[in-house]
Amino acid sequence: MEANDLAGIKALIEELGIVCPISGSRNWTDVRQFNLMFSTKVGSVSEEADTIYLRPETAQGIFVNYLNVQKTGRMKIPFGIAQIGKAFRNEIVARQFIFRMREFEQMEMQFFVRPGEELKWFEYWKETRLKWHLALGIPSENYRYHDHEKLAHYANAATDIEFNFPFGFKELEGIHSRTDFDLKRHQEFSGKKLQYFDSELNESYVPYVIETSIGLDRTFLAVFSYAYTEENLADGSQRVVMKLPRILAPFKAAVLPLVKKDGMPEKAREIMDMLKQDFRVQYDEKDAIGKRYRRQDAIGTPYCITVDTQTLEDNTVTVRERDSMEQIRISIDELTSYMHKNIKPLSL
Ligand code: ATP
Repeated sequence: MEANDLAGIKALIEELGIVCPISGSRNWTDVRQFNLMFSTKVGSVSEEADTIYLRPETAQGIFVNYLNVQKTGRMKIPFGIAQIGKAFRNEIVARQFIFRMREFEQMEMQFFVRPGEELKWFEYWKETRLKWHLALGIPSENYRYHDHEKLAHYANAATDIEFNFPFGFKELEGIHSRTDFDLKRHQEFSGKKLQYFDSELNESYVPYVIETSIGLDRTFLAVFSYAYTEENLADGSQRVVMKLPRILAPFKAAVLPLVKKDGMPEKAREIMDMLKQDFRVQYDEKDAIGKRYRRQDAIGTPYCITVDTQTLEDNTVTVRERDSMEQIRISIDELTSYMHKNIKPLSL
């Protein structure tokens, strides 16, 4: 394999009489190299156009810019650069919905450290990244580490954070100790020094790098596959409820006038105007109230705020919580602080 001797591999398969486990056939094609990257042409005139490749990861842009960022930001090692962007891979089998696509979104960070300290930082990021996932509010039994035994040629430690997708535990994020491989290669081929002067040690070196790399689409799939729930209720009916962590729900509340008359829609609009300064809220007056609750359950809205006859008398509303379906009556003046208290930002 290392010699890239494809004909030799074919000969070996034949010699060992290897059989296809699915069809039982020994009728093998020649061994061929897969195209892992997408190529295209760049240049205004077609004869002079150059072949370029779409990036299979966002990381290299960070490596190329690391000294600019370090100098302009006056950064001291250790420091990290994070970026989000498109990545493209010519996946042989793109499948499992948005789990494996040919065009996807990556969120990557390269963290630059002193040579020799990389394994300490690797452990730090391994732990910190799992804490971030748990802060989303999904229980810990849905995550596990998968430490790599076989390492890529540039890595000296690697682990995946795997998530329990509907089709089993699969990689959601990769954490790699990439040594100084990437910076050294950029240095070698560009002829530009990429060393950092460490004033504490009074020496220059090419930093080592810890990378965290997570798919945005896979994170979305993880959260949604966890949150999607079909429930049988005590009254024999069924509901679909998207139990999204509150902080991630696209709408934090829906404001619903019980009926479309008697000044209730106007009052509901007033509440909506008050809340929209702090939260994304939706207004809905169509259909019976039960049906409107179901609609909000299905899109994961944590709170339904209902305006009824009593609201017009004493300035209170009912607040229905999505998962428990419990309702409480509170004053409109307390609504904003009630929601702030219950929709907490992520904290590690
Ligand atoms: P896999 O083993 O599933 O192919 P990988 O080891 O090639 O993934 P990395 O190169 O570590 O993945 O990429 C970092 C992250 O980018 C992955 O953890 C994943 O979340 C995301 N990712 C990689 N390939 C795809 C893809 N084809 N579609 C969607 N997301 C992807």
